[in-house]
Amino acid sequence: METLNFIVCPSYHGATLLSLLLNNHSAVTSLGDTIPARKYLGSACSCRRAVRDCPFWSEVLEGLEATRFTEGEKVLPLWPRISPRWQKWNRLAALGLGTVAHVAGPRTWSLVGRDRDEYADTYSRFYALVRRLHGTQLFVDGSKSMSKAFVLASIFPEADVRIIHLVRDPRDYHCSNLKNNPDTATLASSTREWLDRHLAILAMSKMIRRKKYLRIRYEDLCEQPEQTVATILGTLEVDYEDLFHPQTEGRKNHVIGNDTMADFDGTIRPSTKWRSRLTAIDVRQIERRTRPLFGRFGYRESARQAADGL
Ligand SMILES: [Zn+2]
Repeated sequence: METLNFIVCPSYHGATLLSLLLNNHSAVTSLGDTIPARKYLGSACSCRRAVRDCPFWSEVLEGLEATRFTEGEKVLPLWPRISPRWQKWNRLAALGLGTVAHVAGPRTWSLVGRDRDEYADTYSRFYALVRRLHGTQLFVDGSKSMSKAFVLASIFPEADVRIIHLVRDPRDYHCSNLKNNPDTATLASSTREWLDRHLAILAMSKMIRRKKYLRIRYEDLCEQPEQTVATILGTLEVDYEDLFHPQTEGRKNHVIGNDTMADFDGTIRPSTKWRSRLTAIDVRQIERRTRPLFGRFGYRESARQAADGL
């Protein structure tokens, strides 16, 4: 594996949008959620076919003999299959072994050599097959999972790792969480998830040695799209191209993510819903609860913005 490229962030941070843009680059493939979930095989790919009827995904899953993997919520394993029955244990074991491997070296993985080999082989073949089918040089994994990036980087220590850490205003994240999970989302759960997941991304990416780490704010992608995309392409070490258009190559149009993909026309619409949807008390609560990172990520408290006349 020469390079490992990831978009990492919690849900509702604009990862699918960034994947769609990067997939428009002639040298790059990025497929949104990257690996189909079993329960979404009947859902639409961006080519407007159901994933199970999509010729691209059929060829990929056949090429990887995905029918070997009968457990787990995804059609390919997210972690080495150390214990086929216990998916949660696999994640914990993979993170534990990955942590030791980042410190002590990749030989740590020889403890579960056969499972490591199957996992490493599956991802090497997956990324290579997709690049070959698309005629591209780079695969950018848009599955958002920092844990997966961390584990793969520990198994392939010779690879150059690029981490694109996408952050979003926690006030807008809370609005999206309320919209998508009306029965369960609360201000406390939104702020806890936002903070915990970003802190975990920072901690895990710090442990990866051969890496480039780039933090991008979703708001900057919306407000200064060309400049922000130029920075991302620089980190990926590919030339600048105009990416703000619909996907023109049918063979690459197989992104998995959310309902907006098939209609993506290259336009990015800024989103600051929190200003109209949240009360002043909620806004102050979110700013206070996310404070360790809120300012560090460059967000400004509403009271200060108001004082500055913004
Ligand atoms: Zn498709």
